[in-house]
Amino acid sequence: MDVTHILESLNDPQRQAVTAADNNVLVLAGAGSGKTRVLVHRIVWAVQMMGMSPYSVLAVTFTNKAAAEMKARIETLLQIPVGGMWVGTFHGLAHRILRAHHSEAGLPKNFQILDSDDQLRIIKRILRDYQIDESKWPAKQAQWYINNKKDEGMRAQNLDAGGDFNEQMWIKIYQNYEQVCNQSGLVDFAEILLRAHEIWLKKPDLLAHYRRRFRHVLVDEFQDTNTIQYAWLRLLTGGQNKIFAVGDDDQSIYGWRGAKVENITNLEKDYPGLEIIRLEQNYRSTGNILNAANALIEKNPNRMGKKLWTAGEDGEPIKFYTAYNEHDEARFVVGVVQQWVQDGNRRQDCVILYRSNAQSRVLEEALMMESMPYRIYGGMRFFDRAEIKDALAYLRVISSQLDDAALDRIINTPPRGIGEKTLQSIRAIALKENISYWDALVFIIETEAVPARALKALKKFHELISELIVVADDSALDELLVTVIQQSGLVEYFQKEKGEKGKSRVENLQELVGAVKEFESDDEPTDFDDPALQDLDPLSVFLAYTALESGDSQVDPDDDYVQLMTLHSAKGLEFPLVAIVGMEEGLFPSERSTYEPSKLAEERRLCYVGMTRAKKQLFLTAAEHRRLYGRESYPTVSRFVHELPGDIVVDVRPRAMVSRPLTASSSGFKQSSSSQPFQIGQSVNHDKFGEGVILSYEGDGSHARVQVNFYQVGMKWLVLAYANLSQA
Ligand code: ATP
Ligand code: MG
Repeated sequence: MDVTHILESLNDPQRQAVTAADNNVLVLAGAGSGKTRVLVHRIVWAVQMMGMSPYSVLAVTFTNKAAAEMKARIETLLQIPVGGMWVGTFHGLAHRILRAHHSEAGLPKNFQILDSDDQLRIIKRILRDYQIDESKWPAKQAQWYINNKKDEGMRAQNLDAGGDFNEQMWIKIYQNYEQVCNQSGLVDFAEILLRAHEIWLKKPDLLAHYRRRFRHVLVDEFQDTNTIQYAWLRLLTGGQNKIFAVGDDDQSIYGWRGAKVENITNLEKDYPGLEIIRLEQNYRSTGNILNAANALIEKNPNRMGKKLWTAGEDGEPIKFYTAYNEHDEARFVVGVVQQWVQDGNRRQDCVILYRSNAQSRVLEEALMMESMPYRIYGGMRFFDRAEIKDALAYLRVISSQLDDAALDRIINTPPRGIGEKTLQSIRAIALKENISYWDALVFIIETEAVPARALKALKKFHELISELIVVADDSALDELLVTVIQQSGLVEYFQKEKGEKGKSRVENLQELVGAVKEFESDDEPTDFDDPALQDLDPLSVFLAYTALESGDSQVDPDDDYVQLMTLHSAKGLEFPLVAIVGMEEGLFPSERSTYEPSKLAEERRLCYVGMTRAKKQLFLTAAEHRRLYGRESYPTVSRFVHELPGDIVVDVRPRAMVSRPLTASSSGFKQSSSSQPFQIGQSVNHDKFGEGVILSYEGDGSHARVQVNFYQVGMKWLVLAYANLSQA
């Protein structure tokens, strides 16, 4: 068989990995060295050269987007559709298993998935129900505790507090939470993994079935697997199956969420004869970007250590810009993108990365001001919007009346006269009798246990849901949804809401109907194409999709927009132009990390991940004055900037501090020179705006712009060539 298409675009060590014998393999290599490419080609090799069926392959990646891309590349190389192939995220794949074997997993057929928001609501309710002091045991911390324990593979019953009263309380909360979820047929994200692991431990036949099926297990971004994910992989590959893992210890960035970089060393121990292959050539970034990233990561202790080189050009230096404040920073970055587009490039090829989601607002404002299309990747999902969650909660209750969390959400949304007191009665009865809220509601109606007005409201709600359950039985999903949003009163309720907000909520509900239609008519392969899942009803399938889908695949690839995302979500991706904003002490590295060496090292790895996303151009920015989370600060430049080699980083513009002369540069990098007729801090006059002070300066010659704080009209950016400023 001709293998050129599999091997021609690979270098020697990459080929060695792709064509390795049926053995356990670890590809340990730095950013942009072709790990993901090797993994894809290995799958194709296994199918075409090792005689594996595509259905005997299970590949785990980190995001839905990466999984979709991987499938597309495999299809192109294999030249056959690979619809039902198991390529997905840990959550996606584990969820498939739970759906297919829900009864073995102790779950109702239409179990629902809880997002972290719903999870927190349930925990808060438990704290209330059991009168636990929230100032001592805060709900958020309880949520963190529970998820953490689940990621470690621990149930409440496995935990022993010893004599520690605090710990006893956490365990008690965990225990109650487990009970509520079990009773309501709810699973949270961590539970999906834990249960998928337990089901194999409890049902050896089932495990044997999956072991027979998946002869080849491949894992991308292996450095970020946590305890339960690793245990799950161990079980699946136990015996004869082989693991093919690719990863980079320098890119481990989820330690704070339980990822264990030690899993890389465990692999050697747990898989005797593990073949380790290193890749050293980087194909992504210019020499300057790569050298800067290498210099940065070398500052970290305890690395496995690797050298990365590129045969490509040095390219442009890395550009560092110190802004006056976060608005100036945003404007600068937007200017960079504008220039890039003017030079004939696509907006899509640019990404703006930040440490914290909260930084996106100012960037968005600046982008909107310049009418620059943008998209936030991995931000708030469409399905997470409040009004969408309301509509989905109706669907959840229709699908499963055990779902207390959903019922709690909609029982008085829109307001229908079911007050807090009535709700408390429902909760109390449910708790006492160990029944669902729905059953408690029926009980109250039957026994007329609440005052007449409340009873009437409850009856009406009960009727509404009962009717919708009937509608669900014989309507298409989109028809059901239209009926739900009309009859529930949601549309009418949001229509009455004043201003743009209400309007956009109604539009979003309409968009949800569109999403359902698209979902129904989509013939793209989904997670549910597996024969074991064919008998699931469309409503359950759709609800699971809304919970697990990142929402990224719905984007039209032809649209041209700038992308915005956190540094964490940029993992595995690459862009010709990357701008990392907020390079400041206290923000990046984050404040907390600066006191703890291991956390600081993780921040540095995150910076390494961010920098190595860039193919051609890399911009770093910091602000001298920042308002974030409602606080003001005057941060200093991030140590990560100072750790970069001075000869390949340039200050793109003199600093803009009023109090400092133009030539000062705190970063110590070379400066791009410019001749300016005005000094920062100088007073000027404008015909229309009157007198003001120059705060910052941008560009050269006819492009030169100044920012002036006018005493009468405030801050303005003016093009010097037209502003006609004079000295005041
Ligand atoms: P990361 O650590 O960021 O996940 P990676 O090691 O997975 O990176 P890839 O994304 O697979 O790296 O590859 C980086 C880039 O280099 C991609 O654009 C890929 O197509 C290209 N590439 C990889 N190997 C080669 C090769 N042998 N020849 C040409 N280009 C290559
Ligand atoms: Mg990769």
